Amino acid sequence: MADYDAIIIGTGQAGPALARRLAAAGWNIAIIERKFFGGTCVNTGCTPTKTLVASAYAAHLARRARDYGVTIGGSIGVDMKAVKARKDAVSRPSREGVERSLKRLKGCTVFEGHGRFVGPKGVEVNGEILTADKIFINVGGRALVPPIRGLDQVPYLTNSSMMDVDFLPPHLIVLGGSYVGLEFAQIYRRFGSDVTVIELAPNLIAREDGDVSRAVADILKDENIDVLLNSKVVGVAKQGNNIEVTVENSRTRSQVVGSHLLLAIGRRPNTDDLGLDKTGVATDSRGYIEVDDQLQTNVPGIWALGDCNGRGAFTHTRERSHYRVCPLYRSPTRTRWHDRGRGPQIRPPGTDRDHGHGRREPSVRERRDQGFHEDFGRRGDEADPRCLTAGTCGRRGHSLHPRRDVRQGSMHCSAAGDAHSSHSLGVYSDDVGGPQAVNLAMFAATI
Ligand SMILES: Cc1cc2nc3c(=O)[nH]c(=O)nc-3n(C[C@H](O)[C@H](O)[C@H](O)COP(=O)(O)OP(=O)(O)OC[C@H]3O[C@@H](n4cnc5c(N)ncnc54)[C@H](O)[C@@H]3O)c2cc1C
Repeated sequence: MADYDAIIIGTGQAGPALARRLAAAGWNIAIIERKFFGGTCVNTGCTPTKTLVASAYAAHLARRARDYGVTIGGSIGVDMKAVKARKDAVSRPSREGVERSLKRLKGCTVFEGHGRFVGPKGVEVNGEILTADKIFINVGGRALVPPIRGLDQVPYLTNSSMMDVDFLPPHLIVLGGSYVGLEFAQIYRRFGSDVTVIELAPNLIAREDGDVSRAVADILKDENIDVLLNSKVVGVAKQGNNIEVTVENSRTRSQVVGSHLLLAIGRRPNTDDLGLDKTGVATDSRGYIEVDDQLQTNVPGIWALGDCNGRGAFTHTRERSHYRVCPLYRSPTRTRWHDRGRGPQIRPPGTDRDHGHGRREPSVRERRDQGFHEDFGRRGDEADPRCLTAGTCGRRGHSLHPRRDVRQGSMHCSAAGDAHSSHSLGVYSDDVGGPQAVNLAMFAATI
């Protein structure tokens, strides 16, 4: 049995940053990783998908070369093995960098294996029991596999297994029309696959305002992606080498046949095999760990950081979530201002996708729910100048602070891939620094 000041389970976004802080404060810590150092963002999420987005964009632009007065002899081909190799070459150094930095960190012992609680102060890994007074859970999540009839009889892909794809699926069926599903839909359409997106809700990325959803849908339809809304998948079956998906809406039942099936209907936390029952840590009905504003669970000495606490699933908020536990180790090294996280530097969800949809934050709907008049200062739905110069379509809009002189948030939607939401200030401010960060963000927004 080995005793530590702290144990961190998982090396995703918050874990390594927290390990560095604790080690710098002189703590003796253990960190446990069961698979890929760096977690989702580095290995199966943001970094690799954005690398694929870039390849897809290159193919898209090459096909449109003539629009720019550029001639390319012959047809445009995509070498999928080279695309995957490029993606791996971008991801690998990040993964290795996280691993190397943790293994070199003084005061930090790295364990490679599955960590599982044996009690509120103890974690077992590779048959060894580690104990600590403080335990930080950063185990992230994985793709949700829904209970659809026949799903156990057909091969399917998730964001993780998509990382091994080095061929062109002739027809990719994507279950789920939100961030992850749409990203893959556009990527593979641009590589040359036929793509069908099936979404249960009446809108794509239904969490966003209606105009944003519609703009995204228009962009995808322009690229000949089939989008089925209000459509419930009730069964899947093998049909020769293909997969048949049965879809129901209020009026009809129909079949979509494709070569490959991607599940992108949501995520679930990696808490089911963590031995939480040995700790008394409370989870919600979906398995997300319940935490307070300092990310403390109901059990003293156990915190949950990142996607596993269900408070948003975006990489920068997850990385910055370790600031929430700062008071534990702030002294004697005082936290500098920028350590508290600066709203303005945090990019909103979706800005990395090629059609550059940035989030208007807060959304019009959220502001309405907060009691502001519907027309609280929304301005926009104007052509995005960067899209105009790039020769692509795009819209942008801003929501204004009630004082009307402070731009509080904005959204961009473009097919350019270069339109980022540079004014989405205050985004995640709740997560990174509280009211002060909001004010700073707003100040920055006015200059
Ligand atoms: C396809 C996709 C694209 C995305 N794109 C974006 C984007 O463009 N922008 C954005 O902001 N966010 C994006 N995200 C979200 C972002 O990747 C996540 O929010 C973030 O990576 C979560 O970090 P985390 O630290 O909570 O968990 P993770 O990164 O998932 O890390 C958890 C780690 O814990 C390990 N682990 C789990 N259980 C155990 C155990 N019992 N023992 C030991 N180790 C364990 C896992 O192996 C993993 O390494 C994307 C996600 C996906 C799936």
